[in-house]
Amino acid sequence: MLLSDLVSLLKDIAGKEDVSAEKEELLCYSYDATQIEFLPDIIVKPTLPSQISEIMKLSNKEDMPVIPRGAGTGFSGGSIPVKGGILLSFEKMNKIIEIDEDNLFAIVEPGAINGDLQRLVESKGLFYPPDPSSMDFCTLGGNVAENAGGPKAVKYGVTRDYVMGLEVVLPTGKIINTGVKTRKGVVGYDFTRLMTGSEGTLGIITKIILRLLPMPEKVSTLSAFFTDIADASRAVVDITKKRITPRAIEFMDRNSLEVVKEHLPEGLHGKAEALLLIEVDGTEIEVPRILEKVKDACKANNAAKIDVAENESDAKRLWIARRSLSQNMFKLKPDKINEDIVVPRTKIPDIISAVDGISKKYNLKIANFGHAGDGNIHVNIMYDKKDADETSRANAAVKELFSATLSLNGTISGEHGIGITKAPYLKMEIGEIGVEVMKKIKKSFDPNNILNPGKIFVE
Ligand SMILES: Cc1cc2nc3c(=O)[nH]c(=O)nc-3n(C[C@H](O)[C@H](O)[C@H](O)COP(=O)(O)OP(=O)(O)OC[C@H]3O[C@@H](n4cnc5c(N)ncnc54)[C@H](O)[C@@H]3O)c2cc1C
Repeated sequence: MLLSDLVSLLKDIAGKEDVSAEKEELLCYSYDATQIEFLPDIIVKPTLPSQISEIMKLSNKEDMPVIPRGAGTGFSGGSIPVKGGILLSFEKMNKIIEIDEDNLFAIVEPGAINGDLQRLVESKGLFYPPDPSSMDFCTLGGNVAENAGGPKAVKYGVTRDYVMGLEVVLPTGKIINTGVKTRKGVVGYDFTRLMTGSEGTLGIITKIILRLLPMPEKVSTLSAFFTDIADASRAVVDITKKRITPRAIEFMDRNSLEVVKEHLPEGLHGKAEALLLIEVDGTEIEVPRILEKVKDACKANNAAKIDVAENESDAKRLWIARRSLSQNMFKLKPDKINEDIVVPRTKIPDIISAVDGISKKYNLKIANFGHAGDGNIHVNIMYDKKDADETSRANAAVKELFSATLSLNGTISGEHGIGITKAPYLKMEIGEIGVEVMKKIKKSFDPNNILNPGKIFVE
């Protein structure tokens, strides 16, 4: 079918205003945070699941790929239309439909922004913990599709721990509801978990039921600078040994500190090799006690400077530094490969030293930061795409990083997903048989490989 005919059929389904094949508009939806670019053929901004269902039936008939997209903040290329096709943007399905304050859940549309839900539930004394650093832009649909994490995962877990149920348009166009609105439920296979983290390859999420918690009474934030990165890594392990769980233990190395220094307290005159940003929560009585234990663990590991944020604005400033790291990395080099490996917490010193070795071996600037409490380190390999030799050293460094991670019983992705960037490495972690079984699952949901093709698996 001619593209123009397809556009007019899509306009019949979704409305004239919400379908476009204009080049200017296509460009706006052609990339995500990886900065890899491919143009879609058509953009559709659906408002109803029934429209999406019709679009899926049509695209199966026309053999046209469909790519779901939230805010395009993904770090693995999941929403990039590598094979062209119809890109579905959920910007018009962005409602927070319901907050059930008695049964502690929220129902949202997939395009609702994470930070908007956080603020709304907080105004009611409730708490939605998953808080990716992109929370002011990223969508809850994208969070579910990527099973996003965030700083609070160390105590509160990741998105999957909050998804109670979903409404999903399957690749064939059929609509299913998964999960429950109750605290428990074990009826049949757990499709909610299968969909969560499936990176837009098994179904299109059109409604999400999310678990809420009561808001903790008190929160305190502490920063601890170290002049030896190994001391900072050991402090993380010692905090756990004290049988306490801060709600965030974030880590930044020297290169990371350098790029956000204007947001950080003065103090070590450039001697700091690492910073731990630690947040604790609980009751008014508990929090000071937990903070003392955190301070003890930092002092025992030679922290050179420890500060407890005096007020909310001091704490906010520290978090701005942490949350703006990703974009500030470009001060070091024009391009980056941002990996998000995870190792068991006790292996953090080993992986940091392995990364240091890789940086020296390949003569590359590497900045490490991330969710140290979960052993989840964002390894930013900085390079210049225009320099072919540096690019090939950066790619070799990735492979070596993944081998080192797996040899320490880690995983190659804690929260960013496989998408296109990690697809070539999938087998390294889950093996031939694992990949074969996953492909069979994909085929049973999407026999014509219409939904988000080219993702997770190398095709
Ligand atoms: C500065 C910055 C900081 C970040 N920090 C974190 C962090 O701390 N933790 C973390 O986990 N991630 C982080 N990320 C990565 C990213 O924000 C998350 O992966 C987020 O969940 C992506 O949401 P999105 O709405 O941008 O989705 P997109 O990037 O648009 O899409 C991501 C994937 O979800 C699929 N998808 C989107 N909507 C749907 C839907 N309705 N149905 C089915 N599939 C869908 C897409 O096809 C794609 O595969 C960060 C990114 C940036 C730029």
